[in-house]
Amino acid sequence: MFRKTRLFTPGPTPLLPAAQFAMAAADLHHRTAEFRALYLKVLAQLKVFIGTSNDVITLSSSGTGAMEAAVSNLTSPGEKVLVLTAGKFGERWVSLAKAFHCETVVLSKPYGETFPIDEVKALLTPDVKAVFVQATETSTGVRHDVAALAKLVKGTDALLIVDAITGLGTTNFNVDGDGIDVIIGGSQKALMIPPGLAYMAVSERAWARMETSKQPRYYFDLRKERKSAAKGESAYTPAVALIAALGAALDYLEQQGGGDLAKGRDLLVANAELSALCMRSAAKALGLDLFSCAHSAAVTAVKAPQGICSSDIVKGFKKEFAGVLSDGQGEMKGQILRIAHIGFLDYLDCIAIIAGLEQVLAQLKPEGFQLGTGLRAAQLVYAEARKSGGEQ
Ligand SMILES: *Cc1c(COP(=O)(O)O)cnc(C)c1O
Repeated sequence: MFRKTRLFTPGPTPLLPAAQFAMAAADLHHRTAEFRALYLKVLAQLKVFIGTSNDVITLSSSGTGAMEAAVSNLTSPGEKVLVLTAGKFGERWVSLAKAFHCETVVLSKPYGETFPIDEVKALLTPDVKAVFVQATETSTGVRHDVAALAKLVKGTDALLIVDAITGLGTTNFNVDGDGIDVIIGGSQKALMIPPGLAYMAVSERAWARMETSKQPRYYFDLRKERKSAAKGESAYTPAVALIAALGAALDYLEQQGGGDLAKGRDLLVANAELSALCMRSAAKALGLDLFSCAHSAAVTAVKAPQGICSSDIVKGFKKEFAGVLSDGQGEMKGQILRIAHIGFLDYLDCIAIIAGLEQVLAQLKPEGFQLGTGLRAAQLVYAEARKSGGEQ
């Protein structure tokens, strides 16, 4: 049979065809009225997508560029910051804070876990100027409780900076209500377009902090970007084609929401949530243990069954079906399998992943897996969701 290449990875994710066409057609100069109109439209749409009235900017970089910009614009050398880490992306915050010579207090939890709120509280002393966390830790499949953290941080001097690179579009946030000072997203995740663009919403409190930050910064000087963005421009040559793609992706969400982008965004989140629920039910039915203690809708991480290396499952899935699943990262390689529910995926994709996974598992361990067990569990979840009106 044919084998269509399919990405089931937590970034890059499958591309939206309309966004690909928009990219191919994006033959325009960035200092023109046409581009300014496009960029202003996209920035306004991003605000709705994020759910904020804070100013939003984009950067021509992968998501990590915006993470670095958050550190370089909002901290000063020697200043105390608190980093919460329980995975590879949390460790990236630690490295960034250290690279910029912050006095870095680290609350570290084992992979797969999250942060007890009283432990965070104990470390949140009055001299802490910023708190860095992931909304969803893509390396472990865990959702961290951003709302609870925001409640703690509110009323302190600390800024709350959230890497929501796989959180946006898979998680409901109350950015302004909760007081999230910086929330960061990346193009290659829920927005269904290729890598290369980061975006972030920044609170007034955070904009004010930038004026006193003593870190060196040049290309990622957010104040310059804010000034340019107000005029519909970017400080330097932006990734024009990606911005065109982003506009098309946000238009698609608006259409899905019947002309209401916020509604379309909610559907995107609900889509990820139901896919994740189907996947978790299938995993359970197949006797596979989940790796995370607090499940995100972005990524489902399952432990490889006894005697099977997760790398062999990933390889088998690619070889049999040309589908790309993710292995564990770093020391989790070989131990866990990660399946993404981010962006342009639907129920049939979800069912296909489960069916393919069952077949690969049955090949690796013929006595252990009965074909159709996981599928049935997922189908029942979907049927139940339809019945209860959770799925229109
Ligand atoms: C993908 C991702 C990033 C950003 O990685 P880039 O490769 O720089 O785009 C950061 N944090 C999380 C949680 C992610 O999933």
